[in-house]
Amino acid sequence: MTGDAVMRRRRGGQLSAITVTAALAVAGCRVGSAGDATTFETVAAAESDTTNTTVNDSRDPVAVECSAEALGADDVYSFSTAYLVVDGALGGVCLGEGDARLIDAWDTLSTIAPEEQLADLGIFAAFDADEPGDEITLAFVNALDDDGSSFQMSINLESYVDDPAEALLTIAHEFAHVFTSMPWQLDRTVEASENCATWDNGEGCFLDDSLMFRWIEAFWGDGLIDQIDPVDEPSHADGVERCDEDAGFFGAYAASHPEEDFAEAFSAYVFDLEPDRAEQQERLDWMAAQPGLAEFRDRAEAAGLTPVRNNFDVCGLPG
Ligand SMILES: [Zn+2]
Repeated sequence: MTGDAVMRRRRGGQLSAITVTAALAVAGCRVGSAGDATTFETVAAAESDTTNTTVNDSRDPVAVECSAEALGADDVYSFSTAYLVVDGALGGVCLGEGDARLIDAWDTLSTIAPEEQLADLGIFAAFDADEPGDEITLAFVNALDDDGSSFQMSINLESYVDDPAEALLTIAHEFAHVFTSMPWQLDRTVEASENCATWDNGEGCFLDDSLMFRWIEAFWGDGLIDQIDPVDEPSHADGVERCDEDAGFFGAYAASHPEEDFAEAFSAYVFDLEPDRAEQQERLDWMAAQPGLAEFRDRAEAAGLTPVRNNFDVCGLPG
């Protein structure tokens, strides 16, 4: 992984491993572009060769490269399966073989996310991670093009099946990274970054009325945002101090970075978690007040997926 992924991590070890954890953060935990890949192959394009007399009146599928390398494979991460996502629906397998567990993950995502928003994804993939530290990458997303109009979402299937409640939260968390990083939320042009008056996350400049910038204004004021270096990749360890000082966070990982804070709070909102601390309610209320976000929660509730138990580590020092 080359510092271009967003990941949700679960802490599994003890404090002695914090230095390892911090070093691991280099692996990357951010929304980013997949790079300069310009050679594209899609299943849809290949199939069209055999039906060349058919008029195709649907919109062109997002051109994606689906090799393991293009998906982000390296010494730590390997990809077993990838599906194309076409117009918000799971399309053909473009790497490996079909996997029922990954289809189950897609079903969860499509249960909570409206179809028109699922169209923001171009690839849905499964990975295994051989990570040396005590933080496990549960999932990550990355942009497939320079302007961030299409995303790859990748799921750690071993962790996914291991903890069904955590899996639900992870899916919602990752999708929050997608819809807060679309071109109408984040301007990835060089000009925007050079003149950014909101906050530049290292990939682009959030628009004035973006969800993330309004979130930062609401919850990362009083100099908190100035503590975040966009170049650093967030880790649980980075958030411990802010978590101790502010009971509003859903765990230390949320306190590591405003985008992780948003994603954790969104997952808590969607799955109707009972707040551990009164201060968390403010974040849940903020989510409820945003147009469009309640639909995720309504869909989760209608599917009988709520409430999920609040297992986030508790922030705010006792007494
Ligand atoms: Zn995240």
